Amino acid sequence: MSNHIYLDYNATAPLRPEALEVMMAVLGKPHNASSVHRFGREARKIVEDARQTIADIAGIPAAQIIFNSGATEANNTVLKYFAGTYPDEQILISATEHPSVREVIEKTIKIPVDHNGIVNLEALEELLQKKTALVSVMLVNNETGVIQPIEAIAALTHKYGALLHCDATQAMGRININMPTHQIDFMSLSSHKIGGPQGVGALALGMCGITPVLLEGGGQEKRARAGTENIAGIAGFAAAANAAIANLEAEQNRLKILRDKLEASLLEIDNRTIIFGKDVARVSNTTLFALPGLSAETLMMNFDLEGIALSNGSACSSGTVKASPVLHAMGVNESAALAALRVSTGWNTQDSDINQFITTWSKIHARLKEKIHA
Ligand code: PMP
Repeated sequence: MSNHIYLDYNATAPLRPEALEVMMAVLGKPHNASSVHRFGREARKIVEDARQTIADIAGIPAAQIIFNSGATEANNTVLKYFAGTYPDEQILISATEHPSVREVIEKTIKIPVDHNGIVNLEALEELLQKKTALVSVMLVNNETGVIQPIEAIAALTHKYGALLHCDATQAMGRININMPTHQIDFMSLSSHKIGGPQGVGALALGMCGITPVLLEGGGQEKRARAGTENIAGIAGFAAAANAAIANLEAEQNRLKILRDKLEASLLEIDNRTIIFGKDVARVSNTTLFALPGLSAETLMMNFDLEGIALSNGSACSSGTVKASPVLHAMGVNESAALAALRVSTGWNTQDSDINQFITTWSKIHARLKEKIHA
C-alpha cells in the first residue's frame, strides 16, 4: 500500500501475513476436498481444521459451520430460506441491516431503532405479537460500529417462538461472537473483514436443527452448500481468525486508545462535530462523524488526494449521492447524513496513521469550514 494510509477496515481489511502465508502454500496445489486421492485428502484436512477453528470461535460443534462465499451469501441463504419455508409468517429485521439482509426478500418488516441505531425492544415485542418465523439483527453495525443488545433481542425472539439470525460480519475479531452465550440460531461471518481473503465466509448454525440451503446441485458441505470449496480461501480465513482472536482484548484496547484520541481531536478541531453512537456500546475500531453542510463525497476525495483512504457511511453505497438508509433509520437529518465519514481501523493501523489523519483533517477542515452549517 506504499505510503497510503488505510482507514477503511470495515469495507475490507488488508490481508494478514498469516493468511497470505497459508494461502500461498495451498494455492499451487490441485486441491478438491471431494477427491479421494492424496491431494483431495490434504484439502479435506485443511477444510476440517479450518472448520474447527471457526466453530471454536462461534462456540458450536464443527459440523455446524458451513463454508460459503461470505456474509452476503450467508444472509441471502437464511433470509430466502425462511421467506420460502414460512410464507405466512413474519420476518423482522432491524432498520439498520446491511443491504444483503435488507434488500433480498420483499416481505421483511423493519424493527425501528433509536437515534443510536439500537433496536427498540418494546417495538420488537409489539411486532412479535404476530406469528414470526425469523428475526434478523446484526451484532455490530458496519457504518457506526454500534453493538446491538443481542441477548435481550434473542430472549424476546425466542419467547415468541421465532428464531434469531445475526449478521456478525463486523463483530468477529472485535467482540465475543459465542452463539450459545448470545442465543443466536444462525450467524453470518465474512473472512475479509478480519484480514482474511475476500470471497469466503461461513454460515454458523445454532442448536435449532434447521439447515437453510441456498445453493444446490452438489454434495459439498454435507449438501448444505453446493460448489467446490475454496480451499486457499478457507485456509486463509482460519489463519486470519486465529490471528484476530489471539490478542482480541489487548488489540481492541489498543484500537480504543487510537479511537479516543481521534475523536477528541475531531471535537477539538470543531466542537460541532457529530460522532454517531458516541455514548453507547461500540466496537473500538469505528468512528462515524459528520459536520452538516459538508459533502462526504468531496471530503473523501480530498482525503484520497492527501493519501488517506476512508469511506462515506457505507462503503457498499459509495459512488451514490444518496444518504445512508442506516442514518435515515436513526433519524439523522439529510444534511448530517450526507456529510458522514467513516474511519475504521484494524490490525495494521498505527498511531502515526491517526496522527496523519488528524493533521490532514485540520487542513481540509480549514479549507472547507465556511460550508459547515452545523
Ligand atoms: N454484512 C455486513 C454488516 C457487512 O459489513 C458486509 C460487508 N460490507 C457484509 C454483510 C457482506 O459481506 P461479504 O463481503 O462477505 O459478502
